[in-house]
Amino acid sequence: MGSIVIDEKYDECRKKLKESINNKRYFHSLGVSNTAACLAMRYGSDVSKAYIAGLLHDCAKGLKDVELLDTVRSAGIKIRKVEEENPDLLHSKAGLVVARDKYGINDEDILSSISNHTTGRPGMSLLEKIVFVADYIEPNRTNLPGLEQIRREAFTNIDAAIALICKNTLDYLKDSAKAVDKNTVDTYEYYKDR
Ligand code: FE
Ligand code: FE
Repeated sequence: MGSIVIDEKYDECRKKLKESINNKRYFHSLGVSNTAACLAMRYGSDVSKAYIAGLLHDCAKGLKDVELLDTVRSAGIKIRKVEEENPDLLHSKAGLVVARDKYGINDEDILSSISNHTTGRPGMSLLEKIVFVADYIEPNRTNLPGLEQIRREAFTNIDAAIALICKNTLDYLKDSAKAVDKNTVDTYEYYKDR
């Protein structure tokens, strides 16, 4: 990676991304990219990695259900039942594959941040935490429960912010009768007392 953060590589990824997802998702991705960079500054993480990881976290969002399943399956990644029934859950794992194969990203930490951004996981790396939180609090987000508090917490105690995000996601899924991914429960249990 070069000495400047917003460099040719970043710009190339940005252009490619714009072609493959809708505008709303693209603007969301720019928001996550910038927010992830701010969090990286706050917590002393690699800003250029945060920038790229945030930008590409939803790079598989444009794929159809069958394509998501194919992409993940052909990369030899196991698909759980809840994912088979709700292929959209796979856009994070498929994102790892697309970022690696289509965007030429080799950094393991960036790839796992993309792969785990939807549910988080216990024991996340700092970059994984940053992308997970940035996805929830980026500027284009509105009307998410507890957003103001979580935005403040994100820059104060990132683990507490993670717990709040999981809690809100679980409450939302319960109310809307949508499938709860057990990984979100695990992430919540891990971070709630930190
Ligand atoms: Fe996503
Ligand atoms: Fe997202």
